[in-house]
Amino acid sequence: MTTIAVIGAGIVGLAVSRSLRARGHDVRLIDPEPPGGGASFGNAGLIANYATAPMASLQTLRQMPAMLAQPDRSIAIDPRYMPTLAGFGWRFLRAAIPANFARHKADLVQLIREAVAAQHTLLDTLGGERLYHANGCLQIVRDSRCQASTLEAMAATKRADGIACEALSPGEVRELEPELKSKGLRGALYFPEIRSLRDPLSLSQCLYQRLRGEGLTHMVARLESLTPLKEGGWRLKAGESYLDVDRVVLCAGIANNGLLKELGTRLPVVSERGYHIMLKTPPSLNRPVGWLTHHFYATPMQEGIRMAGTTEFCRPDKAPNARRWSQLADWGTTLFGRSVEVEQEWVGVRHSTPDGLPVIGEVPGHPGLILAYGHGHLGLTLSAQTGRLVGGLIDGEALPEYAQALSPTRFLGPH
Ligand SMILES: Cc1cc2nc3c(=O)[nH]c(=O)nc-3n(C[C@H](O)[C@H](O)[C@H](O)COP(=O)(O)OP(=O)(O)OC[C@H]3O[C@@H](n4cnc5c(N)ncnc54)[C@H](O)[C@@H]3O)c2cc1C
Repeated sequence: MTTIAVIGAGIVGLAVSRSLRARGHDVRLIDPEPPGGGASFGNAGLIANYATAPMASLQTLRQMPAMLAQPDRSIAIDPRYMPTLAGFGWRFLRAAIPANFARHKADLVQLIREAVAAQHTLLDTLGGERLYHANGCLQIVRDSRCQASTLEAMAATKRADGIACEALSPGEVRELEPELKSKGLRGALYFPEIRSLRDPLSLSQCLYQRLRGEGLTHMVARLESLTPLKEGGWRLKAGESYLDVDRVVLCAGIANNGLLKELGTRLPVVSERGYHIMLKTPPSLNRPVGWLTHHFYATPMQEGIRMAGTTEFCRPDKAPNARRWSQLADWGTTLFGRSVEVEQEWVGVRHSTPDGLPVIGEVPGHPGLILAYGHGHLGLTLSAQTGRLVGGLIDGEALPEYAQALSPTRFLGPH
């Protein structure tokens, strides 16, 4: 039996712990915080089968200047974060080259297909529809330049990726979601197979309780450092304690960067913060509604409607920008055609890669040190499959071809 430390009790660390325990390993989960309290708490709750196109593309580069110039833009870059973003930035440009984009997209399509199936199985094992809604989702368009034929072409692209998707007229959208403001609505993409969580925190808690019930050890401590042992394996300093293990899986989100830096390894994984607000006495929605140009979703959850999204490249610990919360509320007012009252505000950190693929694999030169982060906008969707891939990797199994593309070596080799 191999002793494996899993660092981080977000949805990724929990799913990795589950997979490793199911394979008979002795798992020590290490996190000073209760499970699921990071980005895994505040997300939009979608098992996002539609997310088959990486952000780095020529289309994004063409749209970027206009996006950054909008007064109500959903993307912001803190100038003080630019030095950290340099390595990410040029790799983003390279990833946008059509041949590279096509390769990353092909890998992402396969990853998403397997990940959605794995995540659905996890949800059904843990609690079924007690945990999720299965009403699909809408991505609405309010841009007057968008014709029905453009929407149909967008839907066809998704169908070509194997994703069920229909282009809907404004009338069809209102039939599904009568509380959306009809003025200005041009139509929507409808993804009927999407599941969305009733409460993302409940998923992490449910999984954690299941694992604890089966005997998982949780060290409530922060991993301070990790040192390779001469005879193989790793010595960890967690809080004031030391622990020797055979393998380590780093699932601590953006904090992985600091831990890796101590070992002389730097990866272009950056902090891309997102925000959410919960609406008080909200209008009712039957399914998540995304607004494409503004990069957010309004998701009906147990405690009300959560409006979550936007993108802010900045230090993870920077004070929140309150304007982002009021911006989300303004978009809510436009979406529903009446002012919305905000009950709760939240900001959290996504850990994002330039090519839109997560980093899953062993760190070159550090046997037994495995990374599982860089999930960007998709960590919830990809968590169960990340667990499966890490399990296969540790047990020396042949992995699907796309998994090679997730290795950290893609950022560390000569260029
Ligand atoms: C606004 C927003 C909306 C989103 N919507 C979606 C969505 O609809 N669908 C989707 O698939 N994804 C979505 N995401 C992305 C998703 O939430 C994340 O990718 C996912 O939660 C990442 O999980 P994680 O376990 O890697 O990280 P986290 O949940 O952040 O967990 C990291 C854990 O590591 C612990 N940790 C940190 N440092 C240490 C240390 N030194 N020692 C021990 N433990 C440590 C932390 O305490 C934390 O518990 C969204 C994200 C945001 C911000």
